[in-house]
Amino acid sequence: MKTIGLIGGMSWESSAEYYRLINQGMKARLGGHRNARSVMVTVCFEEVKTLQHAERWEDLGNQMQQAARQVEAGGADFVVLCTNTMHKLAPAIEAVLDVPFLHIVDPTADALRRAGIERVGLLGTRFTMEQDFYRARMEQRHGIQVVIPDQDDRTLVHDVIYDELCHGVVRSESRAVYQRIIESLKAGGAQGVILGCTEITLLIKPEDSALPTFDTTELHAMAAVALAAGEVARWPEALLPG
Ligand code: GLU
Repeated sequence: MKTIGLIGGMSWESSAEYYRLINQGMKARLGGHRNARSVMVTVCFEEVKTLQHAERWEDLGNQMQQAARQVEAGGADFVVLCTNTMHKLAPAIEAVLDVPFLHIVDPTADALRRAGIERVGLLGTRFTMEQDFYRARMEQRHGIQVVIPDQDDRTLVHDVIYDELCHGVVRSESRAVYQRIIESLKAGGAQGVILGCTEITLLIKPEDSALPTFDTTELHAMAAVALAAGEVARWPEALLPG
């Protein structure tokens, strides 16, 4: 069994979900007391959040590179970054790794493709929804068109993530806001919705959504389990360079 390297703490609320999912997933496959082999480095989210909102991406790149080196030194056979937003820095992380990096967009795109979805709504932080690093990979590499909420709704989605979910706070009022926004993505032609922030899974379950949900936390964790268990040698495209 391969050792999964996890870069966590963004926030730890979702890293805990990854930890639960990879261990449950491995046990479900292999039985007995066979949990996943893993090593996790947890960064300080207060620092990360402050640097993100100051747009200090170079400093964040340095932090992510340090964490990536630490998980590799800890014995990771491949690396999983437990946040969508920080995949903005995936190229910087990959540059310092000798082991493969499992990009969160790739297993998500794979699930969308298997569901026959060509146009998908994206919910996440403002960085993930508005910047190019996430949508471009989905659209150009995987051929799936991405639609996002309007500006006011993007602010609502972003604020719920940082002010509530990353503190472990789950409010039914916020769930109702997200449900309304998912309805509007549907009205805009989306056939499914990406829960493109690793904490949204705490708020929105499939039954809460007018559209089929694609939970990046679960899809990423399950891809890691499949790789670690040796079911796939590489995640489609994910482990290829570039
Ligand atoms: N976990 C979140 C994500 O998946 C947001 C926290 C962060 O900014 O890393 O994007």
